Amino acid sequence: QCANICPVNAITERKEFDFVRKEIQDPDKIVIFSTSPSVRVGLGEEFNLPAGSFVEGKMVTALRLLGADFVLDTNFSADLTIMEEASELVERITKKNKPLPQFTSCCPAWVKFAETFYPQILPHISSAKSPIGMQGPTIKTFFAQLNHLDSKKIVNVAVTPCTAKKFEIRRSEMIASANYLNEPELHDMDYVITTRELAQWLREEGIDFNALMDSDYDEFMGVASGSGVIFGNTGGVMEAAARTAYYLITGENPPSDFMTLQSVRGMDGIREATVTIDHIPLKLAIVHGTENVRQLIEAWQAGEKQYDFVEVMTCRGGCIGGGGQPKANPITDEIRNARIKSLYHKDHHMTLRFSHENPEIKKTYTDFYHAPLSELAEKLLHTTYLDRSNDLGPLGIIKAKTSVEAK
Ligand code: SF4
Repeated sequence: QCANICPVNAITERKEFDFVRKEIQDPDKIVIFSTSPSVRVGLGEEFNLPAGSFVEGKMVTALRLLGADFVLDTNFSADLTIMEEASELVERITKKNKPLPQFTSCCPAWVKFAETFYPQILPHISSAKSPIGMQGPTIKTFFAQLNHLDSKKIVNVAVTPCTAKKFEIRRSEMIASANYLNEPELHDMDYVITTRELAQWLREEGIDFNALMDSDYDEFMGVASGSGVIFGNTGGVMEAAARTAYYLITGENPPSDFMTLQSVRGMDGIREATVTIDHIPLKLAIVHGTENVRQLIEAWQAGEKQYDFVEVMTCRGGCIGGGGQPKANPITDEIRNARIKSLYHKDHHMTLRFSHENPEIKKTYTDFYHAPLSELAEKLLHTTYLDRSNDLGPLGIIKAKTSVEAK
């Protein structure tokens, strides 16, 4: 079984879906699943479909069969993240209120890496939460309000390609809905299950995944733009943010050559590009893999490189290659590229390709958050980071201090 991670079966992955199954059996609970961009291009491999098969519709049907009360799309919150993160970038450039470059914040493994090894760069990391970090509090506040649901009864389950998200949702900051509603017991997101866990659960229930008909997400928080779709790829967050930053700066959508930024795509560990928006040149970098991140940070700190915006993903290829995705033996770049191609293909054929044009995002701002970076958006959609360099012990502290002084 691919759910086993130890060759002699001495260690197996924790089945968090057992806890979700119990929640579903409780008639008082409202169980809401939210699915991340990369799950829909990985899950099919668990059922012998070709790598990169786009199985969004079957996945939604499968979650309903498991007992979901609502199935929502985390791609919606990928669009929300882009609105907040691109607005923050534009403010850093125009108001100079925070330092450049801005680093992306949606990968919890990268954030913890920075907190531990490079705490001096934390002011450079966008304060925007990840899509899952935004999905949780938005469901328990605005979505609950729209659907007349009791937030205390909602059980939020994120289905993700990522094992690090299990850590992220348990960070002490992830209780924005509790603070907003004055309900101290609430957590923004209650459970994370991975693509592999979902496949195992479906097998245990005897659900014939390949025979399922397609179905659609629920009405609200189920619509996303192509920008939200490509979030799962290395370079996808950068491309999505660049599209909306262009709009925020010029008031117009970007030209067609801006819609396929080939220079930010690909599998090289560090990729660099310069795009010009309204005569402002923006130096971009896209990096995946912690060794490559280390190299980029060291070069930037030494003054050898200058950037305005840096996208960081820990996993090779981005979230499509996450630790919770199906594990072919071995997982190759051919498989990763098939998943990437599938997401870009979807984006390319969508009519809605900008986060700022998503009608559900517009409604969310009009009726609830008011505007990106508003007081309420800052409270629910933004976060803070911790200096964790003490976790390294005395030698690590000396190293961290030396690099701060050197800077
Ligand atoms: Fe998780 Fe990997 Fe994506 Fe980071 S790149 S959010 S660790 S799946």
